[in-house]
Amino acid sequence: MVKLAEWRGKELFRKYGIALPPGQVARSPADAERAVTSGAVPLPCVVKAQVLAGGRGKGGAVRFASTPAEARTAAEAILALEFKGERVKEVLLEGKVSIARELYVSLALDRSARLPVLITSGQGGVEIESVPDTAIDRQFVDPFPGLAAYERRQAARSLGLTGARAKALDGLLSSLWTLFNREDAELVEINPLAVVGDGLVALDAKVIIEDDAGFRHPEYAAIQDDRTPLEEIAREKEIAFVQLDGNIGVIANGAGLTMATLDVLKEFGGNPGVFLDLGGTDDPRKVTEAFLLMAQAKPKAVFLNIFGGVTRCDTVAKGLVEAMGQVPASERFPLIARIRGNNEKEGVEILRAAGISSVPDLKASAQAVVAAAGGSP
Ligand code: ADP
Ligand code: MG
Repeated sequence: MVKLAEWRGKELFRKYGIALPPGQVARSPADAERAVTSGAVPLPCVVKAQVLAGGRGKGGAVRFASTPAEARTAAEAILALEFKGERVKEVLLEGKVSIARELYVSLALDRSARLPVLITSGQGGVEIESVPDTAIDRQFVDPFPGLAAYERRQAARSLGLTGARAKALDGLLSSLWTLFNREDAELVEINPLAVVGDGLVALDAKVIIEDDAGFRHPEYAAIQDDRTPLEEIAREKEIAFVQLDGNIGVIANGAGLTMATLDVLKEFGGNPGVFLDLGGTDDPRKVTEAFLLMAQAKPKAVFLNIFGGVTRCDTVAKGLVEAMGQVPASERFPLIARIRGNNEKEGVEILRAAGISSVPDLKASAQAVVAAAGGSP
């Protein structure tokens, strides 16, 4: 799933002819000030954190400025934020528009209906989840003829738009539909879509590109907005590594066993913080590398759950012991291993010699990890 930052979403909007305030991205306070003094961004302007989480308006990550110096200070404050666990690395500066009304418009893929759905609401500007169902209009769209004229008119009615504004909506929805299709999006959301005079201006953009269409869109492959720095390193090394918000590290092999291990830990009150899927590897160096990456995520305890097949138990054990030796004593963490299958005896022996015991029972080993991490959160 490629989730685009607001400014990337807005670049797409611009390409498809959806009206936007003039804007520019900045990565430093000085850049932000220049965006204004160069005339690229008119005053008064808005300075917005480019993070993937929503609720920035309420969370102090959207600020207004009426001079270049204010734009600089606002950018400085926002660039120092950690918003919902995400470091802010970029801000978007754009012209402040005078809003008559805030609307909600999105096209999404409804997986249960197996159809695209056009969602509109006259109560925009707040998260759609908090809008009462009676204030939301949903129309399923037949993907072959595409979004029809009568559906666009129905949307205008649901939003209470008439005259020039209804016409603006008609054009906007046609563009949005084309974007949704051509870019293989699973979600394109404008919230708020602002009524400004006779027109409509997109003030926010949330675009998610469908993963399975990745082969048609090599341009999205390089976007790394939603990866943590460690995930980025892992990707370069072709290690399947995902960071969550808990404190237990999980190393397993194969997606099925990895997911099952996360489930078992949750079942016993544990909170997985990072997981690593060794997949099928027969290279102890790769195990070492993967393990050192995990150590950098500073887990409270690590659960190694391996079912030996192509990946032999002794290969994993060797790589692991090697890696443990490279982690400084002050950064060590309890490690509970459960290795079963191909070359299990040799693997268990290697671990034992290094002072790591293997607990063959799944339940007992999971409980031991949760206890080592300090019990349930
Ligand atoms: P989020 O959804 O993360 O809270 P938004 O981009 O929707 O962030 O911005 C929050 C609010 O800030 C909007 O609902 C709107 O009222 C205001 N806002 C955002 N951009 C502009 C702009 N260019 N001009 C005027 N107001 C804006
Ligand atoms: Mg928004």
